[in-house]
Amino acid sequence: MSKDFENFKMTLRRIEKKWQEKWRKQEVFDAKPEPNKRKYFITVPYPYASGPLHIGHGRTYTTGDVIARYKRMKGYNVLFPMAFHITGTPIEGISARIRAGDEESIKRNRYYISLYEDDPETVDRILKSFENPRNVANYFSSVISSDFDALGFSITWKRRFTTGDPEYNAFITWQFKRLYELGHITTGTYPILYCLKEENAVGEDDILGGDEIKPEVMEYVGIKFKLNDNLYLVAATLRPETIFGVTNIWINPEGQYTLAKVNGERWIISKDSIIKIERQGYKVEVVEEFSGWKLIGKYTDVPGSDRKVPILPGPFVDTDEATGVVYSVPAHAPYDYAALVDIKRNPGEYGVKKEIVEMLEPIPIIRIEGYGIYPAKDACEKYGVKSQLEKDKLEKATEQVYKDEYYSGVLTVGPFKDWRVSDVKPKVVEWLEGMGRAVKIYEVSALKKPVVCRCGGKVIVAVLENQWFIDYSREDWKNKAREALRNMAIIPEAYRRLFEDTIEWLDKRPCARRRGIGTPLPMDKRWIIESLSDSTIYMAFYTVIHRIRGRIPPEKLSPSFWDYAFLGKGDVERIAEEVGVTVKELEEIRNEFEYWYPVDQRHTAIPHITNHLTFFIFHHVALFPREKWPKMITLNELVIREGSKMSKSKGNVIPLVEVPRRYSADWYRLYIISQADLNTVTDWREKNVMTVGKKLRRFWQIMQFEGNKNSSKNVLDRWIISRVNRMIEKVTECYERFKLREAVVEAFFNMLNDVEAYLKYGSANVDTFSYIKDRWIRVMAPVIPHIAEEIWEKLGNKSFISLENWPEPETELIDGNVEKAYATVLQV
Ligand SMILES: [Zn+2]
Repeated sequence: MSKDFENFKMTLRRIEKKWQEKWRKQEVFDAKPEPNKRKYFITVPYPYASGPLHIGHGRTYTTGDVIARYKRMKGYNVLFPMAFHITGTPIEGISARIRAGDEESIKRNRYYISLYEDDPETVDRILKSFENPRNVANYFSSVISSDFDALGFSITWKRRFTTGDPEYNAFITWQFKRLYELGHITTGTYPILYCLKEENAVGEDDILGGDEIKPEVMEYVGIKFKLNDNLYLVAATLRPETIFGVTNIWINPEGQYTLAKVNGERWIISKDSIIKIERQGYKVEVVEEFSGWKLIGKYTDVPGSDRKVPILPGPFVDTDEATGVVYSVPAHAPYDYAALVDIKRNPGEYGVKKEIVEMLEPIPIIRIEGYGIYPAKDACEKYGVKSQLEKDKLEKATEQVYKDEYYSGVLTVGPFKDWRVSDVKPKVVEWLEGMGRAVKIYEVSALKKPVVCRCGGKVIVAVLENQWFIDYSREDWKNKAREALRNMAIIPEAYRRLFEDTIEWLDKRPCARRRGIGTPLPMDKRWIIESLSDSTIYMAFYTVIHRIRGRIPPEKLSPSFWDYAFLGKGDVERIAEEVGVTVKELEEIRNEFEYWYPVDQRHTAIPHITNHLTFFIFHHVALFPREKWPKMITLNELVIREGSKMSKSKGNVIPLVEVPRRYSADWYRLYIISQADLNTVTDWREKNVMTVGKKLRRFWQIMQFEGNKNSSKNVLDRWIISRVNRMIEKVTECYERFKLREAVVEAFFNMLNDVEAYLKYGSANVDTFSYIKDRWIRVMAPVIPHIAEEIWEKLGNKSFISLENWPEPETELIDGNVEKAYATVLQV
């Protein structure tokens, strides 16, 4: 890197600190209701305060800030607040592991702290303080807020809170009391994700990588194949209708299996599955354990028929998936087809007698258009499957066949002949249950396994009694959510479908745990409301917290207080007296909410659609009147680095705190906004970061230039003025449609080319040049606010550019003919 560029970087960092200090001191981004001004309430997710953020998170927050800054310059009174989420078990888990001397956890947190502290003794002291969970939350919320300041985010901090604050607990108590009264909260027995180490229910937020691997509860049908009197081999399936095509059973020969008394019957299932069915309410007594080999070569019956099928070795069978016993339907399941072909080709290799397998042929039971008699065979050929080891190809083949059979397959044999596959499953289950041959078995499904709790414990599905749920299944609630979604802008629009689907499938969802940080469930205080359930309408809390804290004792924040603040219900004089404030003060609280609500825009990253964002819609429609329902959700994709995913294990994460040290705030902001549209993944590439940095330096140099006093204007002055105004017009339109990348390409890169051309071929006239600078710097201000302030000051202005007006295009100065005439001549 050249010396010049190093100097430029130092200059940027100095400028950035200078303006951050001025913004803070003069409370430039503080937001107060101004009844005569249009308001704009934009929120980004409050970060979880259990560790530092990285450049991927930074994309979401920077995008939110750029929009907030643009809207402010467009004349809106903008509220852009921030808080910290600390609910649940992760923060307690960090403390517990540090107290227990867990080396990995100590090492990781030492690293996190040393990102911010140089002195080893200070690092140790802070690490030691992490033995108390409150200190973990306080430390990380404090460093994240300083990271945000160092990136120039125009946040108002006056409304900052954490979800562990007593005022927040009072707010959540109100919310859950209301939901309970409305019948949205119920209790019952239900299958849930469960950590075996902590013996506790867990949610997506408690699971390692939970928001990416999407762990869910999946229901299998366990089908009981009889070995002899009262001895069953229990095979698990998602497609019980294929029972009519079973040719054999697969057992992992190297796996461990168990003979156990289960609810009075004798079952054989994998050893791994014993604890799962125990937690799912079965009464289990282990009799004997043995390896899978012991079962190979034996025969079972097939429920509902007089056929017998052999048990064969299937090394691909995962003993930790459901019961670890699988039945084989080679005509319709590509895995089974490939395994059968393999074993028939070379039975000796698998340790089976030739005469057992040579007679086995696929049994076709489903007819579908476009396939031959054996759909699994066709799919294996189509995807080029050569053996059962080709997992990727087999996954694709399986997905294809299952989908096609589900949507257009028809059964061709058995008691349900001519039934459509899509309709027949519950009928087959009922029929098997009638014979005493089917049971429910739950398993965790996820995009990637194993599914592990943040505490290190294995996650299974348990069926627990007396669970508390939010019941999203009710049609009247779904209808209101659908209505809200229809009236809401979703940007990029392509994601609307995922919201629609989520509203459809959302069902009962556990909302409380027996431990963790958070708010006790008002109906039963042994339970703590979990983190996805206490973060649905927190935007409302931003509107009032600064008027409550220090004025009203938290214990006085009764439901009737919130009813008045948010819904205008109740007698203002009585409530004011109850909580100990004047009527005027109470009315001011109400007015703040009335002024700022609804949320005009919520900006976040796409993995939040299926949880946080859909709950955000549901809870708003349950608790608030229509005019307070959210108006818009905008989303951005994730950030990868040099073509691969960022992860702790790869060690390729750039923490946010490093950004102003390695690069600079404005440089990062310009890069991250200019690289990708909202719906595209940003690939962080060092080479491109440098290219953008160099362009930024060129921009800075040009902005130092004052223009020639003695030159006379010519046609190129008309040309560049036309270009500037056209740019303003385009960029404004891009911002209005949240096409931020396009906005920056126009405003920065394309304009830079035009200005270079003007300087090279034109007069560089001083008046023209100051006209350009005045417009250009304002258009760039949302993205590179520090540089913009510095130049704005150099141009002789006393105001903050952050609070200046966005330039209006002077359309009469746009001259299409001149632009056309010089379009090709002026390519530099
Ligand atoms: Zn756990």
